[in-house]
Amino acid sequence: MTDDPPNLSRSVEDYLKAIYSLTERGDSASTSNIAEGLAIQPASVSGMVKRLAEAGFVEHVPYRGVRLTAEGTREALRIVRRHRILETYLSARLGYSWDDVHDEAERLEHAASDDLIDRMAAALEDPQHDPHGAPIPTRGGDVEATNYASLAEVGEGERVEIRAVRDDDAERLRFLEARGLVPRVQLTVETRDPFEGPVTVRVTGKGEEAQTLGMDLARRIYVAPAGRRKAGGGEVP
Ligand SMILES: [Zn+2]
Repeated sequence: MTDDPPNLSRSVEDYLKAIYSLTERGDSASTSNIAEGLAIQPASVSGMVKRLAEAGFVEHVPYRGVRLTAEGTREALRIVRRHRILETYLSARLGYSWDDVHDEAERLEHAASDDLIDRMAAALEDPQHDPHGAPIPTRGGDVEATNYASLAEVGEGERVEIRAVRDDDAERLRFLEARGLVPRVQLTVETRDPFEGPVTVRVTGKGEEAQTLGMDLARRIYVAPAGRRKAGGGEVP
């Protein structure tokens, strides 16, 4: 016996990662959610989910779908760590823009060894977040909890700070960056139209114009209530 982690197939890794992101907030993942997350037909999901359950990576939640077991979570976090370290390295060391790193990391995450990832992490002095603001799991499998709301859920008049943005669509990332809507930026929701209507936000700072965002974009921006910043950079609760 060795302590080496198992070599999982690329599709098993993709499934575990997709189920992880669907269940991160405590929900279970249905077959149709998983199919949507992986952009495949629901009919092809059931067989793989059965195999993942037999391998001990997922368990069924009656009438709701599946969730990861402790072992499934451990494997999913290894892949998420590989993905996020790769994105950070590509961006910090190789000059990739934040809208370019995701697709590259999607390919490399299946090939990179944990040793290479650990060396990259060490070279970057163990970064806490990837370029899109998502927390990077530690080598030991711990990850910061992210119970962020999306901007779509924020009420009028509330001031929030952008913590992370969804990273899987390069065009939308370029759009957000061009408008200054990136992690650590604070903004106020000025108006919020009912029935899936757009939100108007104003970035905190001098002379910033109000910007209108559709619900599709608002849902991709994760926020937390804006704390007052201390001089040292920490937050006053
Ligand atoms: Zn990514």
